[in-house]
Amino acid sequence: MAHQTQQTLGIIGGMSWESTESYYRLINEGVKNQLGGLHSADLLIHSVDFAPVSALQAQGAWGEMGVMMASSGKRLQAAGAKGLLIATNTMHKLVDDVQAATDLPLIHIADATIDAIKKQNLSKIALLGTQFTMTQDFYKQRLIDAGLEVLIPTEDKRAEVHRIIYEELCQGQFVDSSRAYYRQVIKDSIATGAEGVILGCTEIGLLITQADSPIPVFDTTAIHAAAAVDFLLADVAL
Ligand code: GLU
Repeated sequence: MAHQTQQTLGIIGGMSWESTESYYRLINEGVKNQLGGLHSADLLIHSVDFAPVSALQAQGAWGEMGVMMASSGKRLQAAGAKGLLIATNTMHKLVDDVQAATDLPLIHIADATIDAIKKQNLSKIALLGTQFTMTQDFYKQRLIDAGLEVLIPTEDKRAEVHRIIYEELCQGQFVDSSRAYYRQVIKDSIATGAEGVILGCTEIGLLITQADSPIPVFDTTAIHAAAAVDFLLADVAL
């Protein structure tokens, strides 16, 4: 029996909705697993229209997106959220804008992932995600600062990994040849020393699972959702 109420969590989602749906299911399952019965997660979700966001990403218009993300965070706080989660790796580039606009704790996807990797005592990790996530400091450097060695695919492979995310996964298309491509990219990373692989884009877990990889996979969506459950239940006596 639960004795205290959950802390309401605000989710900035819709990027893409395909993965926000995974978060919604995983977080509710996690709460139900802990509390049982008819319990479900106390969530507020602001699900944005991803088309204009992805167009701004392609243009590199991060300033505009920062304003949008800050506004989303503020709306969630005004609606009663006690903490925030950004349900995409890439948009963590704008975490400072969200944090400056609100005074809520934010569950950072890379930090949750770092904790999961450290629990398995791994240090050489392949990173798959969008071009932004694979190549820019906002994400990669955070892993390096935590003591991890980060391996990213070669330029041509990065382009294809990125293309599959936007043209297929974010549009709900899960294609066997793309799964085979990702499997090969993971194999290539093992040849360069990877001990584990970060599925560093919240839709990749819809295409690739542990069964597709000879090395441990770190599915950022599942890891982040588990951290969300911990937040929701922090005050609940289990
Ligand atoms: N959901 C993806 C991620 O985790 C990509 C979509 C986006 O750019 O937000 O990075």
